[in-house]
This record gives sequence, C-alpha cells and structure tokens, in this order.
Amino acid sequence: MSSSTRLIVVSNRLPVTLRRQAGGWKITASAGGLVTAMAPMLKRTNGLWVGWPGEATGAGDATRQEAIDAWAGGSHYVIVDIPAKTAELYYEGYSNQTIWPLFHYFPSLLSYDPRSFPAYKEANYRFCKAVLKHARPDDLIWVHDYQLMLLPQMLREAMPDARIGFFLHIPFPSSEVFRLLPGRDELLQGVLGADLIAFQTHAHLQHFRSALLRISGLESQIDEVEVGGRSVRMEALPIGIAPDEFRKLLETDAETGRYKEQYRQRFRDRRLLFSVDRLDYTKGIPERLRTYRHLLQHAPHLRGKVVLVQIAVPSRERVASYARLRRRVNEMVGEINGQFSTPDWTPVVYLHRGVSRPQLVALYAMADVGWVTPLRDGMNLVAKEYVACNEGHGVLVLSELAGAAAEMGEAFLVNPFDIERTAEVIQRALDLPVNERRERMDALRRRVEFNNVYKWGDRFLQQLEKAAASRARRPAGQPGLLDMRAVVSAYQDARKRILLLNYDGTLAEYTGRPEQAAPSQPLLALLEDLSRPSKNYVALVSGRRREDIEKWFGGIAGVYLAAEHGAWIRPFGSKEWVERVQSRSNDWKPRVIELLEQFVERAPGSLIEEKEHSVVWHYRMTHPEFGEWLAAELIGILEGMLSETDVSAVLGQKCVEIRPLWIHKGQVVEEILKAHGDADFRFAAGDDRTDEDMFAQLSPEDWTVRVGKGETRARYYLPNPAHVRALLREFTAADVPDARPASASV
Ligand code: UDP
Repeated sequence: MSSSTRLIVVSNRLPVTLRRQAGGWKITASAGGLVTAMAPMLKRTNGLWVGWPGEATGAGDATRQEAIDAWAGGSHYVIVDIPAKTAELYYEGYSNQTIWPLFHYFPSLLSYDPRSFPAYKEANYRFCKAVLKHARPDDLIWVHDYQLMLLPQMLREAMPDARIGFFLHIPFPSSEVFRLLPGRDELLQGVLGADLIAFQTHAHLQHFRSALLRISGLESQIDEVEVGGRSVRMEALPIGIAPDEFRKLLETDAETGRYKEQYRQRFRDRRLLFSVDRLDYTKGIPERLRTYRHLLQHAPHLRGKVVLVQIAVPSRERVASYARLRRRVNEMVGEINGQFSTPDWTPVVYLHRGVSRPQLVALYAMADVGWVTPLRDGMNLVAKEYVACNEGHGVLVLSELAGAAAEMGEAFLVNPFDIERTAEVIQRALDLPVNERRERMDALRRRVEFNNVYKWGDRFLQQLEKAAASRARRPAGQPGLLDMRAVVSAYQDARKRILLLNYDGTLAEYTGRPEQAAPSQPLLALLEDLSRPSKNYVALVSGRRREDIEKWFGGIAGVYLAAEHGAWIRPFGSKEWVERVQSRSNDWKPRVIELLEQFVERAPGSLIEEKEHSVVWHYRMTHPEFGEWLAAELIGILEGMLSETDVSAVLGQKCVEIRPLWIHKGQVVEEILKAHGDADFRFAAGDDRTDEDMFAQLSPEDWTVRVGKGETRARYYLPNPAHVRALLREFTAADVPDARPASASV
C-alpha cells in the first residue's frame, strides 16, 4: 500500500457498544477476529471504521460521536445513525429474517416484510453518506457482509473511481435458492459496484457466478466479470483467526490456567465433547443433541464416560424462530438428561450464555472432541479456534456444510443431518489412536496458524489494489479501449472513408429472438446521416437473411448491404441484390435441419433459422449452461456428419451456424477495399467470430474494433453497441459540427 493510502472499513456494527449512563456514555469494545485483523491495518493507515453502534438510543445525538472520539484516542470510528424503525426493518427484518435464512439454505424460515427492503436501501444509503463524508480518492474502502450489499454500487455512483472491495462472510447460496430472494437483482447489481468481491470459499463464488448468469444474464470468467465496461474481480479468500491471541492466553494467562486445572479435575474420568455456537438455527444444535442421544442409546458403554458441554450464546432473541429454537433446545437437553443422568453423571452440560475468553480457551484446550456441526456456515471460526488451542489429543468433527471444511481435510467431515453416521464418527474419534489424533491435529494447526486473519486482511487489500488498478484495463492479450477522440480526429482528417459495420451485437443489442432485433428509427436515421457525405462509403456486413436486411435497411440509398455473410450483396448506389454463390449444392441442409430439430426438442426455447445458404440454431433463450453444453455436443456431431463436405459449423453468439466454407465476410470486405483502394480512413466494427474474417482483411494501422469481450484480432474494443452508436454519432457531428443530427438520441 502506498503511504497515503488509508483504509476505510465499513461494517454493519462498529466494534464498540455505547450505552447511555448518567452524565454521558458507557463505551465497551467488542472482541472478535474481524476487529483483531482490522485494528493493525487501521492503525497503520490512520484509517476509519464506519458502522452502526447497534442501538438507536441517542440517534442524532452528537455527544455520542464526541464520546467515542474521546474514548478511542486516535482510532477513528464513524457512527452511522439509523432511526429505530428503519433499523428494525433493515437489521432484524431484511438482513436477519430474509437474507440470513435464505443464504443459509433455510427458505422455510424466510420471512419478508415488503417495508423491509426500502428500509435496507435507506440504511445502506445512510452508510453511503457517512462514507462519502470522509472518503478521499486514494482510500481503500472495504465493505463487509450481507447487511451492506447495496453499498458498493451506491458508492460507485457517487465516486466512480473509488477503490471498493466487498467481502461476504456468510455463504452465497445456489442460484436456485438465491432466486427466491425479493430484491435479488438489486442485490447483485449492488455488490457489482465493487472492484473486488470476495467469498469464503470457491463454492460460494461459483454460486455467485451462476446467479449472475441466471438472474442478471451476465456471463463471467472464473475470477472476473465485466459490467458496463468495468471489470470486477472475484476471489475466494477464507477468513482465519488470530492464533497469537489464543496462544497468549494459553501460555501466559493465569486465569486460563486456573480454568484448565479446574476442568482437568472435573472431567478427569470422562471424555469431553465440546460445542460452542451462537444459538442460531444454522448451527445444528438440535441435530447434535439428537445425535448424542442416539450415541448414548446405541453405545451404552459410553454412558457415564462422556460429557457433552454445549455453550449456546444468546442471539437475535427478538426474532420468533430464535425464540422457538431456544425452547426446543431447552426441552431436548432436559429430555436427554432426564433419560440418562445418574446421581453422579449429567450427560449434557448446557450453558445458555456467553463465556469469558479464558474459560472458552480452557475448554478448547481440554476437549477430546471439538464437535462443530453447523447445518450451514460461511466459515465457522470455532473450528479454527479449537484447533489453535487444543493441546494435541483432540479430534475435530466438522460439518462438511461449513466453509471451514474446504480447508480442514484432516478433520472428520460429517453430514450433520445424518445422525447415525455422525454418531459413528464421534465414536471413532473417541477411539482414535493417540498418534493419529496428533498427526491430524498438527496438520490442521499448521494450516490455521499459517492462514491467519492478518494474512487474510493483507491479501484482501492487495487484491483490491490490483483489481482497482486494472479496472479500466483489459486482460492481457486483449485490445485496448478505443480512444474516441483519436478516431474521430482521424475520421475528420480523412479524404475518403470506408466504414464496415456488422449489425447484431455491434449496432444493436441482441434480443431473445433474431426477428425482434429490428433497428430503431433513430438508428436508421443515424446510418442515413453517416452515409450521406460523399466521402463516406458505409457497408453493412451482416450474417442475416437478405429479406431482413432488405426490409430494414433497403430504404437507405447510399449504403452497401451484405447479407448471409456476403453470399448476397447490394453494391454502393444500387437497388439490386446480387447473389455471389460458388456452389448451389444445398443437399446437406435437410440432414442438418433434421438434427437441429432434435436439439430444439431437447432445449425448449431454442430455434432454427434457415437462410438460403446456411442454417442457424439459436439457443439464447434456453437455460444458459445447458445451451452451451448442447452447442458443444452439436458441433461435435456436425463435424463428423459434414466431414466430407465443404460445409462447417461455427459457434457464434449464442448460436451455431452451419454454412459452406466459401461464405465469409472476408470476401466482400476484400472486394470493397479493392474497389476503393484510395480510402485513407478504414474502420470496421464487429462482435463475433464471423467478423474476425472482416478484420483479417484490414491492415494493422486500420481502425478495427471488437464490440464486447472475447479473443480478437481487432486493435481496439468497445464495451457494447451503445458505445458504437455514440461513436457513429460523433462521426456525423464531426461532419456537421453545428447541427447535431436528428439521430442524436439513439
Ligand atoms: N464466542 C464468543 N463468546 C462466547 C463464545 C464464543 O464471542 O461466549 C466467539 C467464538 O470465539 C468465535 C465466535 O464467537 O470467535 C463464533 O464465530 P463463528 O464463525 O463460529 O460463528 P458466528 O457466530 O460468526 O456465526
């Protein structure tokens, strides 16, 4: 990071709690991995932490900010005020009762109050205003978690060049589950405002990509997505813990030592199974208790020999599903203890409260089994803390549905819903020879210590800096963004100009069905303006059927029209179409159409377009991944089927086109260029593979422009058709500087 770079952390909660007390405010710092990781970075960069203090008490009261400034002494916390009602709808409502259950795969617990999404927006907007008040152009802004998914885009709109990163601490669900979320599109657009979006695991990242594709129609690469000409990086960056903080307690803290001794005495003759979670339905506490009951029933020799210590830290108690869970867990603990206890043994020790750090660390150190079996979890830090603190004899039993499972292969991984199998695994863990326990634990510990939270934070910021630096740049090997001013100036200076333009995906956006992509009136007016100056030679070089091209563009007198990739042309100044065929043999067509009909059956929404010399299978309207998959299969079959002919199958933009090899756009372009060899401005724009044949005819110093992403031989790129239309408008304005053409609103 450069010396002037400052970090701004934005999270829902500030890492402090304020309570009103006589004569002022009582302020307490909260502990936790995130604070531990952020604190040194904030200090190093003289940064800021922007967040909500949690209670609406005193909202709008400036003395709160003063109190926190005085208390923090040099650290900078910025309070975001949220009115009580908004806060309730934003936090308890949309964040915790809509996003939280859904992202953890509990759609049945989703509850949605239509007022809560506007409140979520308002709260995000309040965060945005608070950040904007302090942000400087050079800052790195790091937005945390699911409560603030709209914030990156809000910030981007206000500060287009800001460096913004987003980290999602909770899982990102499968797109089929994400689809259920009211507000899903806005949320996706919201996070896409960031330069870097990071997740706990690759699986979450893949689900996010799939949601981008299926919900927003955005195609992406494994680590990058292009949105509105800007590229957004995506990464999997699993969060870690601060192992030193735990080690310190174990090595030097007297209180921790006393607890350890106390537990050693207490559990002397028994094996200790240990679980600690927030009392949340995602943590699988009832399933764990059921598993434990099953274990005691089916392994009677363990009775009296094991104890399960379950700590359940109270959480979100005002939400009904949490209150229900609390009652259920109470009942289950009562039932198990009622059924199995003896005068000198209680099978479950249940604490419904938080415990102190020394107590927690002592329990981690002493436990024979760390029983960490959430039904779904973004990461689960308890698993990592247990490994960091355990003194070598313990075994971690971990849910495969926790993000941590992706990095903790030496744990016993279980499906927490499978009670019988999990009970067997617990028994195996208890019976495991000590050297195997040690081996597994050592391997886990090394990784937990190595991938600690400090590294995580550094890596996120490094990636963010990189992502922001390359935001406007294309990936390596890709052409550079077309410099509008340079090309307009070359256009203006030229004596004779050739403009070769593809239509679909270049001048007009793709639509679901090819026939829906008719040109708008302003676009037609623009082409007319462009072809009017006598030094301009405008050619529309399309793969479409002649009838479409004639119907749409036949009225523009000056343009050269090429349909079916040049199998049909209407030369400059002519009203007549000329067919330029080398072979009339279309015997391949019926066989191909028969095959394509089978593909239409298999992929509802796909369709066949028959042209005079070619056939196209369009799959834009099908399920996106299935469409790609079928297209690859189709091309494979066609290659075999057509191997003896001069016909080939080419993958286009969401279509497979089957046509004779002698039809390609290169031929028409070659003819035009030959006929107008004196042109000193040569410009070509296209968006798919068939346009590469056009670019191939031009020289390196010509203006060749690829529209959108993809490998190309073009020199430049423009993000989308709107940019091409804007450029053509600039051309026409350059010819008639004072009179903006009628097409100004294309
Ligand atoms: N923890 C705590 N108080 C307690 C018991 C545990 O603050 O009484 C901490 C624990 O050390 C861990 C965190 O709560 O750091 C739980 O994090 P995890 O990722 O496991 O679950 P989350 O609660 O974030 O869903």
